[in-house]
Amino acid sequence: MSDLYDLVIYNGRLVYKDAVRDGGIAVQDGKIALVFAASERPQGKQELDAGGKYVLPGLIDSHVHFRTPGYEHKENWESASKAAVAGGITTVLDMPNTDPYTDTIERIRQKDKLIQGHSLVDYGFHIGVVPGKLHPLDGLQQEHAASIKLFLTGHRTARNVIDLDADLETIFRLAAQRQIPLTLHAEDDAVLHLYRRVHRTPNDLASYELIAPRSGAIAAVSRVLRLVRKYGTSIHVLHVSSEEEVDLLETAARAGYPVTFETTAHQLWFDLESAAALGTKTKLSPAIRGKRDRARLWDAVRSGALTSVGSDHAPHSLKEKAADFGEAPPGLPGVQELLPVLLTGLGRHLPELSRDEQLSKVVSLLADGPANRFRLNHTKGSLRPGLDADIVIVDDEQVWEVEAKDLHSFCGWSPYEGLPLTGVPLVTIRRGQIVFDRGKFGKFDGRSLSYAPAPFATFEQVSGSPFH
Ligand SMILES: [Zn+2]
Repeated sequence: MSDLYDLVIYNGRLVYKDAVRDGGIAVQDGKIALVFAASERPQGKQELDAGGKYVLPGLIDSHVHFRTPGYEHKENWESASKAAVAGGITTVLDMPNTDPYTDTIERIRQKDKLIQGHSLVDYGFHIGVVPGKLHPLDGLQQEHAASIKLFLTGHRTARNVIDLDADLETIFRLAAQRQIPLTLHAEDDAVLHLYRRVHRTPNDLASYELIAPRSGAIAAVSRVLRLVRKYGTSIHVLHVSSEEEVDLLETAARAGYPVTFETTAHQLWFDLESAAALGTKTKLSPAIRGKRDRARLWDAVRSGALTSVGSDHAPHSLKEKAADFGEAPPGLPGVQELLPVLLTGLGRHLPELSRDEQLSKVVSLLADGPANRFRLNHTKGSLRPGLDADIVIVDDEQVWEVEAKDLHSFCGWSPYEGLPLTGVPLVTIRRGQIVFDRGKFGKFDGRSLSYAPAPFATFEQVSGSPFH
């Protein structure tokens, strides 16, 4: 019996960033031991018929706010990680704007301790920086964090704004020396302040966009590109929202700058018009923009210029969101909806792609791309022998009419409620263990990630980007 694999998944359509192949996967000791063709059939102690459905690598959401510690009235790690695995996600990278702020190696360790035993997914952290207090970065090495996260502007739940030229110069230089990427909330604080002084307090989405305009994002991106040119720092710009940012970042990448970028599922889904009825629920930072911006983001999906899509899962309670437009905190939940929204959007916005090609886009943006970007590609991001057996079986035709009762996030609401989304995960496996199976959950034994001690040679492998 010793020649049996721990788990065999057969009769699947295995999805890679550039191909879909019929076959299956054998798992041993939590790793992918074998990828086999449809004509083969190894035996396992446990066997799973994928039923001809798509089989993807476990998805990576490289941008979440799971709110521990300090904001557990909005979310907790158990509910958030349930939402994640129900959405096919097996790995998340958590942002530092918790309370206390995750701005030291010691606080990363403390956060890790709080999460142990409470997570269905594997996890890592972006480390934060407090303005004028950069000394915690002195001991920072590649193995400590996925990236250094900088907020160039702030809001209610992100108060540590790095705006001084001196701070930025120091951080860009240090990150380049240590070969640690920077992730950026790139909106220019001074520009946004200017608009706030001139425009009235917003009372709807359109007037909110007037005080958080595209010019703020464009100014910030051009500012950081100057620093990239000066120091050679590798950056990943988060939640890109406007046509002009895409243009700038694509051009910089083509010119050989070590630059990649993310957008979010909600920016790919909504525009100012379609989000208007949702009011404060779609109050976001950066703001939702117009149809031509959304179209440009889909262009970047089509061309491969986009490296990753994040959920930017940033739950707030309904009570908090019920405040008036000026007061309500920006952000929305979405880790459970990330894959269904992207799949549905691909069907709608890139209909010229075959379904196989659309699934490959998903793998590129939610597995290969973030794994390569954040030095996780030695363990995660693809259905390759030797990597962790993180696997999700997806029914790409099943329709999910989103209702609050289906949601696992503690905040209990979704901007997509009432909408039909097409494509849902059936079974999610993390390091060989079934952590989600049609509504049932597995063990809360997710663990913290290791980062490959990669120089930016891996940069050439950043999937999704034809420019490197
Ligand atoms: Zn965020």
